[in-house]
Amino acid sequence: MENRFDYLVVGAGIFGATVAERLASAGNKILVIDRRSHLAGNIYSYTDQETGIEVHKYGSHIFHTEMDEVWEYITKFTEFNDYTHTVNTRHDGKLYPMPINLDTINLLYETNMDAEEAEKFVAEEARRDSEKYGITEPKNFEEKGISLVGEKLYTAFLKNYTEKQWNTTATNLSAEILSRIPVRFSHDNRYFMTARHQGIPKDGYTRMVENMLNSENIEVKLNTDFKDIEKDLLENVKTIYCGQVDELCDYELGVLPWRSLRFLEEKTEDGLGEAVINEADKDVPYTRAHDYKYYQIHQPEVIEQKISYIAREYPADFEKGGEAYYPVNNEESAELYEKYVSLVKEKYSNMVLGGRLGAYQYWDMDKAIKNALDLAEVLMKLFLLSGKNRCIFVD
Ligand SMILES: Cc1cc2nc3c(=O)[nH]c(=O)nc-3n(C[C@H](O)[C@H](O)[C@H](O)COP(=O)(O)OP(=O)(O)OC[C@H]3O[C@@H](n4cnc5c(N)ncnc54)[C@H](O)[C@@H]3O)c2cc1C
Repeated sequence: MENRFDYLVVGAGIFGATVAERLASAGNKILVIDRRSHLAGNIYSYTDQETGIEVHKYGSHIFHTEMDEVWEYITKFTEFNDYTHTVNTRHDGKLYPMPINLDTINLLYETNMDAEEAEKFVAEEARRDSEKYGITEPKNFEEKGISLVGEKLYTAFLKNYTEKQWNTTATNLSAEILSRIPVRFSHDNRYFMTARHQGIPKDGYTRMVENMLNSENIEVKLNTDFKDIEKDLLENVKTIYCGQVDELCDYELGVLPWRSLRFLEEKTEDGLGEAVINEADKDVPYTRAHDYKYYQIHQPEVIEQKISYIAREYPADFEKGGEAYYPVNNEESAELYEKYVSLVKEKYSNMVLGGRLGAYQYWDMDKAIKNALDLAEVLMKLFLLSGKNRCIFVD
């Protein structure tokens, strides 16, 4: 069978789906492939038949954005509920609001300070402890943490959680991870304090992506790896590639550093009582637990049932062929990534790298959508005449 397409989009995650939708809406014929058996990439969710709970297969995803343009775009494909994300973190058996706020500070120090007192108090703790450890110019994450909030808050909430996440000591991590004081001197416990828009798609993320790709100009092939079909493509196929660059080049220059995750799932009557609890201490091997039913605030009957669908999130080392979750961004990895970009340019004359994997960046969903909208606009300007220059994909 032969099909005619203007673009090949590799990856049916939110980035690939946005680019495909935009290009298709301008009349281009698009083939979207994904090697997984499902759409939506890492935002994939499905309904557990027994409980009606929408399970986020790759960990909790809360849509939040300050960008009106992105909100206007994405709400064409789904209705969102009014969920507002909050998180508690467990330390020494007690729960504290996260990010650190006035209540977190008062609970930890067993005080009853107001905002002004707490701000002075934390500044004094930070000054005293910086002096104690001789920190003037913080050289790493640990020094930065102590210099911003003092040793007690840093050790309770930042040190162990971060060390578990990255599987290295905080002294090995860059100071830049903590760019500003991670503390609010108010009772505000909203996790995404500055988000103008926030919520969870009422029909789930996968339905949202299905709606985006529902066009006569788009064909989707799941269970299809680019590596297995590239020999069947004509040369110069216009390709938007949303996978890893190191893998695309058969790891010719080495493996880019990534962190991975494992999710251990369980249906239980022993739920969390809220959507997410972080585990700040070293003796708990996972970083957080998710109780997915609490996202369904538009379906109280789902939340009120006794049973919960829980996932515990364990940080893991990345191995070739495994799931890449977080890029380990530092000078060395940036250099290696740039070398891979040059290699891709040599090997594939008409390929654009996109998405979080192709760009080797952590992006929230809104940033992935914004970058995809921008890319689609550039591509449409470059190839104004849709229908010309078509490539042929042979099945
Ligand atoms: C644990 C975790 C929690 C997160 N929570 C939030 C949150 O609450 N809110 C938020 O806004 N963002 C969150 N994010 C970020 C969010 O997951 C990303 O913004 C989003 O998934 C990026 O989409 P993408 O399309 O770039 O990548 P992906 O969703 O990874 O899509 C890439 C797709 O490409 C496919 N692919 C790769 N290589 C090939 C190949 N060779 N052939 C065929 N297909 C291929 C993959 O199978 C995948 O489906 C979270 C991220 C993580 C890791």
